[in-house]
Amino acid sequence: MTAMPAKTPQTLSQRLEAADVHTLLVQFTDVHGCAKGKLVPLAHLEDVLRLGAGFAGPSIWGTALPRTGPRAEYYARGDATTARPLPWMPGLARIVGDGFVDGRPFESCPRQVLRRALARLAERGWTMRIGIEPEFFLLRRTEGGGWAPADAQDRLDKPSYDLQSLPRQLGFLQALQQSLTACGLDVLQIDHEDAHGQYEVNFAHDEALASCDHLMLFKLAAQGLAEARGMVFSMMPKPFADQPGSGLHFHVSLWQGERCLFAPESDLDPAADSGATLSPLGRHFIAGVLAHAPALCALAAPTVNSYKRLTVGKSLSGTSWAPAVVAHGPNNRTATVRTLPGRFEWRLPDASANPYLAAATLIAAGLDGVDRGLDPGPDCHDDLFEQSPARLRALGLPQLPQSLAQALAALHADEVVRGALGEPLAAEFIRLKSAEWTAYARHVSAWELDRYAAAF
Ligand code: GLU
Ligand code: MG
Repeated sequence: MTAMPAKTPQTLSQRLEAADVHTLLVQFTDVHGCAKGKLVPLAHLEDVLRLGAGFAGPSIWGTALPRTGPRAEYYARGDATTARPLPWMPGLARIVGDGFVDGRPFESCPRQVLRRALARLAERGWTMRIGIEPEFFLLRRTEGGGWAPADAQDRLDKPSYDLQSLPRQLGFLQALQQSLTACGLDVLQIDHEDAHGQYEVNFAHDEALASCDHLMLFKLAAQGLAEARGMVFSMMPKPFADQPGSGLHFHVSLWQGERCLFAPESDLDPAADSGATLSPLGRHFIAGVLAHAPALCALAAPTVNSYKRLTVGKSLSGTSWAPAVVAHGPNNRTATVRTLPGRFEWRLPDASANPYLAAATLIAAGLDGVDRGLDPGPDCHDDLFEQSPARLRALGLPQLPQSLAQALAALHADEVVRGALGEPLAAEFIRLKSAEWTAYARHVSAWELDRYAAAF
């Protein structure tokens, strides 16, 4: 994204006024990855940049802030480089806020959590670039109170790249593309994915923080534009049991200035063998990502529904395309980590993940692999969706957690991943998500009644 030059609040204000902006949408992200914020007239831009827009701290998920005293106020302090007019909300410009409490960066603000992780990279002179790939559904409510793809004609047996259905959503997709482009995102491609009503929008990779901000902008735009057309934009990981779910793959690379440290020919790693996709540094990094995969699941796949995506199983088209096994391999889309020349694709995250927390914990896991010189083991070339549990055991490839409860237990036990969140947020995240698990586990579903009501 090209940064909007803003040397002073006055020049930024003038630029926004020239774009017919009269109001700021001061936006931050809560622990669940949901955009929150408030409207502030442009005349108060300076306050937003210096102090921040104020919120009642305990009203925001994940803050665990008290109701009284100096720590009761949460301020979203505007990051001037992020200010952009929003074409689908004329007159409004979104500005991303960093959480501050009692005059200091708030340790549990997801954007601050990522800033801390990036600072650890910066201490080594490194930066991270991430390309985030959102998949999503366009849904509608059915008369019976259920959910269905918004487009009732979207019914192919193998729906990937469906050019019969895609044109029926062209109004939405083009409005989305134009809105994102006007906000400075470089949209690369848009396709129909492998489930009915499922799409993916790709935009160019960027610095990690900017990419997470882009994803939140994408969510805001897609939500608004879908709703205006009578549809529900859904980033639920797995709305339909017999179809693939929605991933949020991260394409990750590490840089020192202009030099890609994951590139196999990197002169930092003279021993790199020319057939490898990643440098030795890159291999240590992914070894850390794989070693901490169970705890990372809690952040990358943070809902009870996430674990219906992370299972080996058949779907409508014959495969889920979602990982179930802790493994890595060159261009292996059946593994948790797919390696590519100079980067890797982390296929674990799903569409419900908070991108800032997923990225921050990924960095902590990767750095642990680097610092301990971990070895990710041999490249896996197998189609992991075809392997029996016995064969996976023989290969020494563990399964990913198969429930939110398992992932939370792994997070509880993982000091590296907890450390990236900071103890207050780690504790609050586990508390909130354990309650979510318990509520789900205690619910008696239609499946249970059908199976057991008359069975015994
Ligand atoms: N929808 C798949 C997932 O849940 C990914 C499909 C793809 O590789 O594009 O991860
Ligand atoms: Mg995809």
